[in-house]
Amino acid sequence: MIIAYDLFGHDNLSFMWPNSVPANLERCPCDDLVLNNEKAVSSDFKIKKKLDVSYTYDGYLIVSERFKEFVQTEKITDVNFYGLPASPGYYLFTAKNILEFDALRRRVKFSKPCEVCNQSLEVIGSSPVCLKQNEVIKRGIFRSDVEFGEKNNKFPIIIIGIDTHSKLMASGMTGIDSHEILDKYDWEK
Ligand SMILES: [Zn+2]
Repeated sequence: MIIAYDLFGHDNLSFMWPNSVPANLERCPCDDLVLNNEKAVSSDFKIKKKLDVSYTYDGYLIVSERFKEFVQTEKITDVNFYGLPASPGYYLFTAKNILEFDALRRRVKFSKPCEVCNQSLEVIGSSPVCLKQNEVIKRGIFRSDVEFGEKNNKFPIIIIGIDTHSKLMASGMTGIDSHEILDKYDWEK
């Protein structure tokens, strides 16, 4: 049974931080893990490939004005759009409502957590998405509690309800890469 969809985007051929992350961000002494990554909006960021939904190489989800209008028309709340001064009409997107990822079921691999920030430098195995809750989600946009990837490039999985998904797919927006989230996968049967 499909309970929701994940929302990925095509690569936009851009880095939020092409060199290194700025020193004014809150970071853990462990290995430059940025702890307030969602606030890491570079005023110099220029999107190289303009899509409605896309990811930077360093794990930031960038959306267009059109996507923002869709979210507002759908009255979806608890999301953030951070303006990108050097890329007018584009935003860094984050979702605030958290869904718990079932790391045990998916057998996610965590590297040894840092003793200071309790984060793993590497978290591998996000796909297919396994959620702890297995009820159908009709509408809304959410994020996973677990962030995947490595070091400063980690990002949560964005999850959308099935009704929101069908409207989004019908909108003709570009760059969307979305997959079914099931309550049970073949390997679990
Ligand atoms: Zn740390």
